[in-house]
Amino acid sequence: MQVVERIIRDDRKLVSLLKEYVDYKCQFPDCDSHIPDENGVNYVEVAHIKAVAKEGKSVIGNLIVLCPNHHKEFDLGARNIFTQNTEIISGLLNGKNFEINLAYNYSYKIK
Ligand SMILES: [Zn+2]
Repeated sequence: MQVVERIIRDDRKLVSLLKEYVDYKCQFPDCDSHIPDENGVNYVEVAHIKAVAKEGKSVIGNLIVLCPNHHKEFDLGARNIFTQNTEIISGLLNGKNFEINLAYNYSYKIK
């Protein structure tokens, strides 16, 4: 657990950048989750496809931005990943096909 917490802390910067890149929107197809905080910023979480506890790394290709509901469904649901690389993650989650494009526009923030 300590290791998991340390990894999450170390990756805080990447996590916040990913949320910015996707404009604080859940990346699961057709999700319209809207949980604004007191500043009007939509609440989202960054999920590891391969869990940190199973040595999944906090790198592009293993991280997606999800609403809390889809995050839990990813963790608990019947999941089958077909493709996972730095550009795309696709698979089946509880019988629903999904394809998430990871080709973010990195250039606008990293100068
Ligand atoms: Zn969602």
